[in-house]
Amino acid sequence: MDITIYEASRQLPVAHSCQTLVCGGGIAGVAAAIAAARGGSDVILLEREFALGGMATLGLITIYLPLCDGAGTQISFGLAEELLKLSIKHGAEDSYPTAWLDGGSRENKIKNRYLTRFNPHFFALAVEELLLNLGVRILYGTIAAGVAQNADGTISHVLIENKSGRGAIAVKNVIDATGDADICAFADAPTALYGTGNGLASWYYYLEQNDPELKLKMFGLADIVPDREYDKTTEYNSDKIQTIAGARFSGVDGAELSNAVITAHKSMYADILKSGVVPVRTSAIPLVRMSRRLVGAITQELDTDRVRVEDSIGMTPDWRKRGPVFELSYKTLYTKKIPNLLAAGRCISVSDELWDVTRVIPPCAVTGQAAGTAAALLKDGGNFAKLGIAQLQTRLQLDGVVLHNG
Ligand SMILES: Cc1cc2nc3c(=O)[nH]c(=O)nc-3n(C[C@H](O)[C@H](O)[C@H](O)COP(=O)(O)OP(=O)(O)OC[C@H]3O[C@@H](n4cnc5c(N)ncnc54)[C@H](O)[C@@H]3O)c2cc1C
Repeated sequence: MDITIYEASRQLPVAHSCQTLVCGGGIAGVAAAIAAARGGSDVILLEREFALGGMATLGLITIYLPLCDGAGTQISFGLAEELLKLSIKHGAEDSYPTAWLDGGSRENKIKNRYLTRFNPHFFALAVEELLLNLGVRILYGTIAAGVAQNADGTISHVLIENKSGRGAIAVKNVIDATGDADICAFADAPTALYGTGNGLASWYYYLEQNDPELKLKMFGLADIVPDREYDKTTEYNSDKIQTIAGARFSGVDGAELSNAVITAHKSMYADILKSGVVPVRTSAIPLVRMSRRLVGAITQELDTDRVRVEDSIGMTPDWRKRGPVFELSYKTLYTKKIPNLLAAGRCISVSDELWDVTRVIPPCAVTGQAAGTAAALLKDGGNFAKLGIAQLQTRLQLDGVVLHNG
C-alpha cells in the first residue's frame, strides 16, 4: 500500500472574506466573536457542528465554574460574567448564584461560589441570537482544514470544507478557538501536546422511572492521571469521582479520537443499562480536556498565582480550590512567528499545570474576549505582537474587564 499519495493542485474558490475569522464556536470562539464584532470588526465565526457552545453545550458540560476566588471576591468579569448571566437567562438548571446576583452578604458569597448550572439548549440558542444581532456571520458545518500564508507567515486565507466542498476565506486576522490549536498547527506555529494525554468522559442526561426530574450524569467526572500526586483537599477526594477505564488519548489524531469516543460510548451504554435509566441526551462532541496548545511568546506557569502580570488581559480564579488568582498575560495568546494569529480558550500558551485551570468555561471567555478585542483593534491587518498593550487594556477595561487583583 502507498504510504502517501499526491493530491493534484487545484484552484479553490474564495467563498467568503472578512476582517476577523474566528475558528471554533465554543465558549472562547463565541466570546471572541462578540468582542470583535462589538469592536467594529467584520466577523465570520466558523464551526464544524451545527450549534454554538462547543463542549459547554454540545458536550453537556453545563456547569459554569466560578467567577470568584472562593473567599468572597469576584475575579473574572466582562464577557465571562455576561455569558454566565446569558446562560441562565431563562432560568438556572441548578445552583443559581443568589448570593452574587441578588445582593448576598460577603459571608454568603464565601459559602456559595459565583457559579451556576445552565440549560445547554437555551444557552446555545441565546448565544446564536446574540451573535446574529451583532452582525456576526456564522458558518455552521464548516471545518477549518488548512491555511494559505504569505512569506512572513501572515495567514491570508483559511481553507475550509463544508457541504459546498473545499474553499477559502480571505482574512485580515484569525482567532484559533478550535480548542486543539488546529489553526496554529496548520500555520506551522510552535505547538505542544498535553504531557499525559486525556482520560475518557461521556456525560449524559437521563430520567429515572416515576421521576420527572431530568438529571445529569457526569460520567468520567475527574481525570485521574496515573502516578500523579493529588491535593486531597480538592475535588479529587470527592466521592463523586468517577473515571472511565481506557487508554489515554491526545485529542489530535483522527482515528485515535474516534476510538476514544467509541470506548467512552461503550462504557456509557453499559452504565445506562446497569442503572436502568432512560437516556435523554448524550454528549455529541468529544470531551477533551487538554490536547494541543500554542507555544506563545511566553508559557505562563502555575507559580503566577497572585503575581502581578503587567500585560494582563483579565483574570481567572482556580476552579479546583479557594484562593488562587491568575492574571493572564497577553503573551499567552500570540506567537511572533505568525503575525495575524491569536489563540483563545483551552489552547492558549500555559504550562501543563496551569492548563487545568485555564481550560474551563470562565477563563475561556476571558481569553476569547481579549483575543476578539485585539482582533478588532487590528481589523485592517497588522501584527499582534506589536499591538500596544495599553490600547488593548484600555479597551478591555471600558468593556468591564478587571485586569489586576487589588
Ligand atoms: C469531562 C470534562 C468535564 C469538564 N467540566 C467542566 C465544568 O464542570 N465546568 C467548566 O467550566 N468546564 C469544564 N470542562 C472544560 C470546558 O468545558 C471546556 O474546556 C471549555 O468549554 C472549552 O471551551 P473552548 O471554546 O476553548 O473549546 P471547545 O468547547 O472545545 O470549542 C471548540 C469548538 O471548535 C470546534 N472546532 C474544533 N476544531 C475545529 C475545526 N478544525 N474547524 C471548525 N470547528 C472546529 C468544535 O466543534 C467546538 O465547537 C470540562 C471538560 C471536560 C472534557
